[in-house]
Amino acid sequence: MRRTDTIVAPATGQGGAIAVVRVSGAEAFDVTDRVFRSRRGRVADAEGYTILYGRVMDGESVLDDVLVSVFRAPHSYTGENSVEISCHASTYIVSRLVALLIDAGARAATAGEFTQRAFVNGKMDLSQAEAVADMIASASEADHRIAMNQMRGGFSRDLAELRAELLNITSLLELELDFSEEDVEFADRSAMRQLLERIDTRIHTLAESFRLGNAIKNGVAVAIVGAPNVGKSTLLNRLLNDDRAMVSDVAGTTRDVIEESCTIDGVRFRFMDTAGIRATDDRLEQMGIDRTHGAIERADVVLHLSVAGEECEMLECDAPVIRVFNKADRCGVESGRVAEQTVVISAKTGAGVDALRAVLREVVDTSGLEQGATVVSNMRHYAALRAAETSVEACLRGLELNLTSDMLSEDVREVLFHLGEITGEITTDETLGNIFANFCIGK
Ligand code: GDP
Repeated sequence: MRRTDTIVAPATGQGGAIAVVRVSGAEAFDVTDRVFRSRRGRVADAEGYTILYGRVMDGESVLDDVLVSVFRAPHSYTGENSVEISCHASTYIVSRLVALLIDAGARAATAGEFTQRAFVNGKMDLSQAEAVADMIASASEADHRIAMNQMRGGFSRDLAELRAELLNITSLLELELDFSEEDVEFADRSAMRQLLERIDTRIHTLAESFRLGNAIKNGVAVAIVGAPNVGKSTLLNRLLNDDRAMVSDVAGTTRDVIEESCTIDGVRFRFMDTAGIRATDDRLEQMGIDRTHGAIERADVVLHLSVAGEECEMLECDAPVIRVFNKADRCGVESGRVAEQTVVISAKTGAGVDALRAVLREVVDTSGLEQGATVVSNMRHYAALRAAETSVEACLRGLELNLTSDMLSEDVREVLFHLGEITGEITTDETLGNIFANFCIGK
């Protein structure tokens, strides 16, 4: 019942001139016809992909002049009969229209229910459905590109190929079981090893891409570190072009880690301005410094700031470090890039800051992304890929140990299970519930 009844929800947020209300389900046309009048006739008689102009009636009075777009099953987003009603974007009109459609027989949609129906009706797999939410949330060009590739099925195709190869192995192994009396080997073990190794590499690469995908989705975390007064807050303000961080001449005034983000050449960077690193007796300042070390640990890249011409220690950390020499204006040195990861700047005048932006952007290698490679950015997918990788390795060990075909086949099925979790071939109502609950209403 839940999956076929007719649902309604606004598809657009507040603001703008036009709002869209979506209706989907077996009764979508009849429900709409109960509140809509058009000279062009009934929605139920209209062809798919047509638009009817008319009025929404609220009893005897007109609620609004609207356009109704008609989508006939299966050629709609949900795969069901659907309409999209474009009305004027008044909160009153939108809520009254939804109420009238509910009175006419529709039910208010739950979060993500339109996309859930698209998944259930085979219009997209689960990873594509999740990409819809990512697409809506995308805040930078790179982020958008990942979501777009996933939504259009790039990742799904990669997984489908892996699944097809694995299914081939299991069917050969299972054939051996049928002939177990005769001690035959249909699945050539060395070919199987080669295939599994290839699959292992492929899954590993996909899982590894999560580092980039996650950085792009959440913003690349940049820690700006250095002694007090070297100009960290000034640089941050310069990079963000606003005055959010506190700038002062008194050493040790930046006590909190402030996080702000900006986009450089299509990639979002999150800057964590930090308290100056130095030995201190001040407890409050010490807390700030502890947080600095936390920020360095969480950073994808560290900007190590010092004053040009002054001595400073080297910083040891796992993330790539960009050395930045500041206050070039004061000591009269030329600003700009001086080595691969070293830049001289003046945070105050802005000289050299573009060169610094370029160095920062180079740290994030998005060349694969530009060529359409799959980049995993979803934690759930990452976890499933890691589990699949562990299972492939168990298969390889099983081969090494000359395990029987039924045991090997079980291990291969385990890999299939984890890959199937990503696309939703294998799924539980709980997983689905969790995924779609994070969508907005009307999506
Ligand atoms: P932080 O403690 O590292 O965050 O340093 P601030 O950003 O608060 O800067 C400390 C002082 O250095 C302030 O008076 C800034 O105006 C000054 N300052 C920062 N960058 C530059 C620069 O490039 N040139 C000059 N001359 N002064 C700067």
